[in-house]
Amino acid sequence: MKVAVFSTKPYDRSSLDGANTEHGHELVYFDARLSAATAPLARGCEAVCAFVNDELNATVLEELHRSGVRFVALRCAGYNNVDHEVAERHRLVVARVPAYSPYAVAEHTVALILSLNRKIYRAYNRVREGNFTLDGLLGFDLHGRTIGVIGTGQIGLEVARIMRGFGCQVLAYDIKPNPECESLQVRYVSLEDLLAKSDIITLHCPLTPSTRHLIDTKSLQTMKPGVMIINTGRGSLVDTEAVIAGLKSAKIGYLGLDVYEEEADLFFEDHSGQVIHDDVFARLLTFPNVLITGHQAFFTREALQGIATTTLANLTEFAENGTCSNAVPSPKF
Ligand code: NAD
Repeated sequence: MKVAVFSTKPYDRSSLDGANTEHGHELVYFDARLSAATAPLARGCEAVCAFVNDELNATVLEELHRSGVRFVALRCAGYNNVDHEVAERHRLVVARVPAYSPYAVAEHTVALILSLNRKIYRAYNRVREGNFTLDGLLGFDLHGRTIGVIGTGQIGLEVARIMRGFGCQVLAYDIKPNPECESLQVRYVSLEDLLAKSDIITLHCPLTPSTRHLIDTKSLQTMKPGVMIINTGRGSLVDTEAVIAGLKSAKIGYLGLDVYEEEADLFFEDHSGQVIHDDVFARLLTFPNVLITGHQAFFTREALQGIATTTLANLTEFAENGTCSNAVPSPKF
């Protein structure tokens, strides 16, 4: 198939080209994000391949349908950026990569926890300037602390496993408990209990209407003072204005983000010579106890390879059968 591949960087092209040697699709790469403005680039293609911040709203899907696209291959696990109703109406099949490396995201989550706790990002700069003082770098033992994992699918399970290795007590909340997690002596509790009892709260559920702003002013009120919040899920799981208020009042002691509500206009690009116009994001950057990475949790060699292999297999399956076993589930959450 001829496939328009959006939001591609050299590392994407190299992993997709590598995986495509076994499939022989015609991959047409675009640096641009998929949006209403760029959707016409897919004219003449039977499929598009899209990433986390590509727009698959009604306008874009209708344009894709008009131009003959029949298949959307997402290069990610989450599919919150898709207007499923419109896709269904136009019989556009949307597939994703349901699993690549849960270890990549889980390990990055733990990297954020460790860096925030032991202030590695501050120590790094200090030592390079010849400042070897320890004031302000005091951390706490993770051993014996309580960590709350919200969403215990593939990634949440691996986070729980690693944190059990640190000697943490792990509480979990999921609408569908995972038996493998229970075998790690992870205790499933209500969301209210998890929020109230955890020293560290980490988010690994998908973004759906029911999980949007799961962390907001109301839920923050029920948490321990000085709580650490980590979000490597999706930006809109967290109400950013609410966490800024929580940081100012010291209710939140540490905040680690790999995703951000309005990341589409910022992440994956070099804006270092420009003014940041997003005042909310700019405010977040001013806190000494906030650590932000630009949606890089997935970014390991193994994960890129897994994404490419499954994406190409999805394209081939659709080309051969008109269906795909990794088609995204019904949007009725
Ligand atoms: P998964 O489908 O294996 O697990 C998700 C879990 O969340 C499931 O157990 C599900 O039952 C649970 N869940 C669903 N709705 C819930 C709710 N309302 N409350 C609590 N739990 C709920 O998915 P995964 O592979 O573990 O990925 C989790 C999320 O991580 C993805 O949806 C994606 O948004 C995000 N992600 C981020 C990156 C990154 O680079 N930062 C990379 C991959 C995935």
